[in-house]
Amino acid sequence: MTAPIRLALVGMGKIAHDQHLPAIAAGQSFDLVATVSRSGESVGGLPFFRDVYELAASGLEVDAVSLCTPPQVRRAIAQYCIGQGWHVFLEKPPGATLAEVIALRDAAAAKGVSLFASWHSRYADGVEPARAWLAEREVKRAKITWREDVRVWHPGQDWIWEPGGFGVFDPGINALSIATRILPRPFFVETAELDVPSNRAAPIAARVSFRDTAGAEIAMDLDFRQEGPQHWDIEVETDDGTLLLSKGGSVLTIDGKEALAHDADLHGEYPGLYHRFGAIVRAGVSDVDVSPLRAVADVFLRGRHISVEPFVE
Ligand code: NAP
Repeated sequence: MTAPIRLALVGMGKIAHDQHLPAIAAGQSFDLVATVSRSGESVGGLPFFRDVYELAASGLEVDAVSLCTPPQVRRAIAQYCIGQGWHVFLEKPPGATLAEVIALRDAAAAKGVSLFASWHSRYADGVEPARAWLAEREVKRAKITWREDVRVWHPGQDWIWEPGGFGVFDPGINALSIATRILPRPFFVETAELDVPSNRAAPIAARVSFRDTAGAEIAMDLDFRQEGPQHWDIEVETDDGTLLLSKGGSVLTIDGKEALAHDADLHGEYPGLYHRFGAIVRAGVSDVDVSPLRAVADVFLRGRHISVEPFVE
């Protein structure tokens, strides 16, 4: 029996509360020992610190940190934590640029700590079965529909509209983290249109056409203005039936029939992420796949930016 990994949680916003705290409490591998919060938020009487510099200066024994801040400020925090010899879990997206994530990966390797670029949607129940099913079939085309109401899911998150906040690609990168995992061939951006509100720096909607190395089209439709039913769907047409991953990857149907066995002993995205983080720390390795971030970067490089009406929350 190995001792739990002593963890500090950094950035006590929506995802830290909604997912990290319950997943840490439910698992055996991590022991939450502190929080780091600019607003001074403590959890259950644990020590709290305003920033990671205060945490390091306190002398509290820490093995690892999970960084739940907005992406724009994550690199500097991660770099410092790696320097302290702490293992680092990065919320998605792992950074605001590709180069900074690669630099973090190299810094972690040089320091001998684990870096985890987490992609929570890849741990949804339907994703690995979908990958296995598609591996044996010929993909003809795919359609990604990711439409959610930004006012419901991201209230008050001004950082999402700033450069490096990704706008509608903040959820859209989740779809791409699934697509890059389940589709058998690499795919590339051919055309893209990004609708950017005239008072904001990041897109509120986008239409992208990717094509894979065998010529299959992967169309993506993202919209932050969706009211009513919300959509987080990936439909893949093959030579042997149509696969639909819906509800963000948690429901899998094939030709309209539910196709999940429900016999796995580990359910849920964040329990899966913490299981993986514990495993890579114990194995002394990192897990850094930048392919979803690279796809978003390519959309921003290759796309046409269209100014649309202002967005006021
Ligand atoms: P959020 O509610 O805005 O929380 C982010 C927290 O980071 C803030 O509450 C604040 O916590 C801290 N923070 C904000 N600005 C900072 C700065 N300049 N320097 C240092 N710390 C700062 O955002 P969120 O929804 O939790 O998202 C955080 C990350 O998780 C994003 O990358 C997002 O893509 C990812 N994520 C979000 C969701 C979701 O459903 N919301 C799901 C999965 C992943 P303190 O006041 O405690 O310092």
